[in-house]
Amino acid sequence: MAERRFDAVVIGGGAAGLFCANVAGRLGRRVAVLERNSQVGRKIIISGGGRCNFTNLDVSSANFVSQNPHFAKSALARFTPHDFIEIVKRHKIPFQEKKHGQLFCRDSSRSIVEMLLKEAKAARVEILTNTEIVCVEHRERFVVRTTGSDLETDRLVVASGGLSFPKVGATGLGYDIARQFGHSVTDTRPSLVALRLKGRAFPDLSGVSVDAEVKCGGNSFRESILFTHKGLSGPAILQISNYWKPEQPVEIDLLPELDLTQLFDEKQNSSQQLSNILSEHLSKRVVEAFLPQKLARKRVGELDLAARSAIEDKIKRWQARFDATEGWDRAEVTMGGVSTDEVSSQTMESKFQPGLYFIGEILDVTGWLGGYNFQWAWASGAAAGRAIGKS
Ligand SMILES: Cc1cc2nc3c(=O)[nH]c(=O)nc-3n(C[C@H](O)[C@H](O)[C@H](O)COP(=O)(O)OP(=O)(O)OC[C@H]3O[C@@H](n4cnc5c(N)ncnc54)[C@H](O)[C@@H]3O)c2cc1C
Repeated sequence: MAERRFDAVVIGGGAAGLFCANVAGRLGRRVAVLERNSQVGRKIIISGGGRCNFTNLDVSSANFVSQNPHFAKSALARFTPHDFIEIVKRHKIPFQEKKHGQLFCRDSSRSIVEMLLKEAKAARVEILTNTEIVCVEHRERFVVRTTGSDLETDRLVVASGGLSFPKVGATGLGYDIARQFGHSVTDTRPSLVALRLKGRAFPDLSGVSVDAEVKCGGNSFRESILFTHKGLSGPAILQISNYWKPEQPVEIDLLPELDLTQLFDEKQNSSQQLSNILSEHLSKRVVEAFLPQKLARKRVGELDLAARSAIEDKIKRWQARFDATEGWDRAEVTMGGVSTDEVSSQTMESKFQPGLYFIGEILDVTGWLGGYNFQWAWASGAAAGRAIGKS
């Protein structure tokens, strides 16, 4: 079959791929986007509970995890949240700020996909859906063999995303292409994901949410946690999952607002039972599950120092041990990916193969929960798109 020729071919019609194609297209390049699904941007559509947390007002490289913490700096500085917000405003998409600077669509995340498709049309980007890549070859140029037509190009952008949520299209193809061209891929694991408690879980508390401070490996997050059937979820747990490694305990303070030592001192002469005192500050069901039964009915004055400290250990310094995550089907992102040491932080171009680019989640750059992963997709896509436009 005759090969169709493009200035650039982008593998993956997700956030990063579409954005990159639009930037390069606007700069006059003839670009094709290849997407295996029947529609582009499926992860965008399901994101943020259907309202897409498309960026965050406060973004820096400190909000990302990577073996090279400096890698993301340049692209993030050259395409900021305000640059993206400007496009959203131009398309008159209503949005709102939620806590921690998180920006969400007011109506539906579909409006972000529609915006990207309108921009693609204006930039004359050709989008080929239902297109599975068979293999990539490189002679003088890249040849992308697909289940449809074969495409020839000087610039190939790998934007096929990570491994999470395979039901909306994730595949490991991008990592295979990276290895084919000599790149290393760091260990990958599910992240921004619920964790399963080792040994005793709290199925009776399933659905209960608690404001907590969660710490692991020198990182801490103050948000809610949610008890699940097998372990813990909720924003603070998803955040800490970016840092958690098996065998590492996660310390959880179930009463971050409260100085328990001070409370005990104040209640030294109180006739209230301990469980009632604590239930004024924490869900009664959680108190019952965490307070040793033999202590629940005691008064504070009846506690010796060892008992006080045991209660503080349970409630203020709970050493939660997890043995697994809820896995790829439930993880919002992939931790790890194509090593950033071998990719230009200015252009996202491979240091080994001229004309080959990696953008978005496929790279070893993982953001916190809160719109950071999309901001990385837009920023890395813009960096590659501009470089392609200029080259
Ligand atoms: C449930 C959920 C909710 C999320 N919510 C948010 C949020 O609110 N805010 C936020 O910042 N981040 C969120 N994320 C993370 C965010 O969606 C990703 O980080 C982001 O989509 C990554 O963009 P990408 O373009 O690199 O990859 P993707 O958006 O995953 O796009 C990759 C594309 O490549 C296609 N593809 C893969 N393999 C092939 C192949 N072999 N051939 C052709 N095409 C292929 C895929 O079908 C997909 O369309 C969420 C993720 C999930 C799973």
